[in-house]
Amino acid sequence: MFCARNPKEREALAGKVVSIVGCGSFGAALADMLVRAGLGRLLLIDPELLSVENLGRHVLASSDIGRPKAEALANRLREINPELNVEARQEKFRDAEGLLVCCADSRRCESMVNAVSLARGLPAVYIGAYGAARAGEVQICVPGKTACRECFAQFRDTEEHPPGQERYTDPDFDPTRVPGQTGLWGSVLAIGGIAFHAVLAFLEVRGAIDFERPLWIVNLDYAGFQPFAVTFARVKRGCAVCDEAMIAELTV
Ligand SMILES: [Zn+2]
Repeated sequence: MFCARNPKEREALAGKVVSIVGCGSFGAALADMLVRAGLGRLLLIDPELLSVENLGRHVLASSDIGRPKAEALANRLREINPELNVEARQEKFRDAEGLLVCCADSRRCESMVNAVSLARGLPAVYIGAYGAARAGEVQICVPGKTACRECFAQFRDTEEHPPGQERYTDPDFDPTRVPGQTGLWGSVLAIGGIAFHAVLAFLEVRGAIDFERPLWIVNLDYAGFQPFAVTFARVKRGCAVCDEAMIAELTV
């Protein structure tokens, strides 16, 4: 029997469904936090295997090296809560259910999540970090209500990442993927902890979200900002992907 010290949240979370896209540092940390809080159903999606360089900032350990991240994480989460309904998919994102939590380090994957979110009317939360995880961002997207991910993050499509050898040898190579970033586990947990609260508010478990300011910029100790602060920002709505009027204009 799962003995909760948070009976109220556990009861509210028991009937909720979350899909986590990307089981790296952020995805795994959030999955861990949500399951300990009492989440009912969780879908984990990640095509990759756990490697030794993941260990510095991941909830999984050396005994899982070489195993699919999604499956190894699902097993660990079942140890935390044997009643958890968890499904692991070792594949690239195609479709999901419930609240979409995108923790992928690839713009291409983010765009896929955004497209599915808009097409199926599923809400989504995007979590990322920059500056060696000294700052992070959480964007909350509700189709038809807030700006979509492309409205805010499309400018990053022009950012170039150093090419790796895989570019030539891997037919599935994703040039929009950010190569292994530096950063500390504590920083991931700090940004992830704030993202966790955004997810709780989104699921109407605890707290509330101002949908007029759906972008949360989290600063830990990034130069020029007040340390450990969250700034809530507006995002202009209406990119070519989510603005129906613009799409109508384009197709005339
Ligand atoms: Zn948009």
